[in-house]
Amino acid sequence: MPASDRQWWRQTDQFEWFSNYLRERGMQQRWRWATFTFTVVLGALPLVMLASPLGPDTDLTRGVAIVSGAAGAGASLLLWLSGWPSRTQSLVYNALCSGGIAMGCLALSNPYSGLMGCTLFAVIGGFLAYFHSVGQVAANFAVAALCATTTAARLVTETGDVALTAAAAINVIALNTGVPFGIHSLVHSLHTDLRAADRDPLTGLLNRRAFYSAVNQLLADTHAVDAAFNVTVIDLDKFKSLNDTRGHAVGDAALVYVAEILHRHAGASAVSGRLGGEEFVVADVDLPVLQRRTADLIREGIAAGPFGITASLGICSARIAWENSAAGGMSPDFLDKLIESADAAMYVSKRAGGDRVEHRRLDGADLADA
Ligand code: GH3
Ligand code: MG
Ligand code: MG
Repeated sequence: MPASDRQWWRQTDQFEWFSNYLRERGMQQRWRWATFTFTVVLGALPLVMLASPLGPDTDLTRGVAIVSGAAGAGASLLLWLSGWPSRTQSLVYNALCSGGIAMGCLALSNPYSGLMGCTLFAVIGGFLAYFHSVGQVAANFAVAALCATTTAARLVTETGDVALTAAAAINVIALNTGVPFGIHSLVHSLHTDLRAADRDPLTGLLNRRAFYSAVNQLLADTHAVDAAFNVTVIDLDKFKSLNDTRGHAVGDAALVYVAEILHRHAGASAVSGRLGGEEFVVADVDLPVLQRRTADLIREGIAAGPFGITASLGICSARIAWENSAAGGMSPDFLDKLIESADAAMYVSKRAGGDRVEHRRLDGADLADA
């Protein structure tokens, strides 16, 4: 199996990010109600079929139908009514549904109804494709295939109607592969697009929203006690005139060049973003004096480039409560304040003629000699 296929097969499940995606868009409640309703219907089906002449016709199969309807649905209803499930609870829910459908289909006295009932596995396959891995979709498919093979064998034995059996089996296979496959590719490309949307397409740097969340991740991953959190704002000087004299395409190339300079000089752990237009930002956890050196390298790198442009830089450094940052991330207000203060320092550089670095602490003290 090629490496890319192995990766696809083992792909960790999508539960966390997709649950988060729904939560951020206020859609979890609707999904809970939809799943709840589906589960009520699913649980009711074997119980309704108890009254049908095609339904379960022995004490054993009636018992199986009742267990499949009541136990499976009961547990899953509780799960979906009580809130959004955990990953494990969601897997248990799917396993219960899958097992419940299998029992319900196998308990029917009429094998054609049982075979057609296997189309319901496609809903579970779709659900797994939204939230879980390809392996789990395949496990559900295996249960569906086993159940369909059993009922198909009974149908052909009892009726001798090969054509009807084949048509019903094709129907079951088509739905059980088509639905999960379609949902899997949709969710996969949604994930790829979301990741791409975190980046500025021109420079590949993080956009403002992604910058904020990456900074929180940086702080959560940091365990240094004696370090500072530094934010550097970089604004190109008289950039408009580069666009005006050499054209927008050259301006674009200059922005890409600046991004390369940031990659080259900001440390591997630094978070770099493009806040807009010709304004960039770098955040790092380091001694303020090291951040100052990085800023100087960035300034020199931009000035030494082939575009004849310079930049004004402003740094703001602050000590932060590590316990707080590690537990819950930095509050957006605090990060806003740091960026604002670095921005004010950058304007001081600009007013002094540009191609300079100005360094502040959050309380406004000048750190130029730190
Ligand atoms: P200052 O020294 O005061 O910073 O002046 P400036 O010209 O750098 O700044 P100003 O805000 O006056 O102009 C910014 C320019 O950046 C205007 C806009 O056309 C250009 N710009 C913004 N985004 C892009 C982009 O994606 N590509 C290109 N080529 N230019 C851009
Ligand atoms: Mg500018
Ligand atoms: Mg600007």
